[in-house]
Amino acid sequence: KADIAMYHAKGEGRNNFQFYTPQMDENADKRLLLETSLRKALDNDEFCVYYQPKVDVVTKSITAMEALLRWKHPKLGLVSPAEFIPLAEETGLIIPIGEWVLRSACRQNRAWLSQGLPRMRVAVNLSGFQFQQKNLLEMITAVLEDTGLDADLLELEITESVIMQNPDFAVSVLNSLRDIGIHISIDDFGTGYSSLAHLKRFSVNTLKIDKSFVRDVEISSADAAITTAIIAMGNSLNLKVIAEGVETEGQLSFLSENKCDEVQGFLFSTPMPAAQVAEFLQEHRRDAAE
Ligand code: C2E
Ligand code: MG
Ligand code: MG
Ligand code: MG
Repeated sequence: KADIAMYHAKGEGRNNFQFYTPQMDENADKRLLLETSLRKALDNDEFCVYYQPKVDVVTKSITAMEALLRWKHPKLGLVSPAEFIPLAEETGLIIPIGEWVLRSACRQNRAWLSQGLPRMRVAVNLSGFQFQQKNLLEMITAVLEDTGLDADLLELEITESVIMQNPDFAVSVLNSLRDIGIHISIDDFGTGYSSLAHLKRFSVNTLKIDKSFVRDVEISSADAAITTAIIAMGNSLNLKVIAEGVETEGQLSFLSENKCDEVQGFLFSTPMPAAQVAEFLQEHRRDAAE
């Protein structure tokens, strides 16, 4: 309450005439409420990580679990990452939050191994702001050391647009991450204008086809063409290709027929709490054996 009042005093001072609508006020208020509570969310233990499997199209085995951040706000309930990640980036809070996600995910994967679950990577989304940190490699190395997770069981997802903001810089960072054995995926691929010339310089393992292309892959000839082109490009550059947002058997058939390597989406599982992963794997193995 106090913060919101202050905002009005500053933002709408006497000589500061602005056109505004009640909607603008409401948005600004919500944003400010989110911002102040985001600052406290880590200390208050309001974050948790959900996991969504990546499935090998041919063997049906689970290659990785993607860590997806969830925020349970005491008053607003579950707040979507689409809403709070941009805010965390603007405020710089993404740095401690991102490190917390990485640490949680690595610790969790180590725990799954100790419990006897099959080896799989844990995939963590990296914000562009984290990507630009000078100490990124040191931070990641320290987390791997602290949690005891092998580097080859960690995957980092970086969006194509972040990489393309500064391709030369990206090449050097990606190389240093690859050198210690970390698996790299380009997230939301197809939305960020990579040229083939750039792609061949990046030491990445996987292209992840953005879900906007997957959604209508059966009914839109353009989306089908883009999807098959990305798969062909990945194959010829010796990269794995995964499709995100796979919801239907029809989409899966299309991707399978066109030799996409892996799939991820609600068809297999929505993102789930860590405690449900062991049971999911058991059921999945039973289904795959049928
Ligand atoms: P993303 O990394 O591209 O993740 C894919 C998003 O699609 C996730 O949304 C996931 O829950 C959702 N999804 C998965 N399967 C399906 C499906 O079959 N259909 C549809 N329609 N959607 C599906 P979510 O969890 O809301 O995350 C949204 C975005 O927020 C992520 O996109 C990622 O960019 C960002 N994000 C999430 N967690 C983190 C994090 O720990 N750090 C950073 N920097 N960003 C994160
Ligand atoms: Mg991702
Ligand atoms: Mg994505
Ligand atoms: Mg996406």
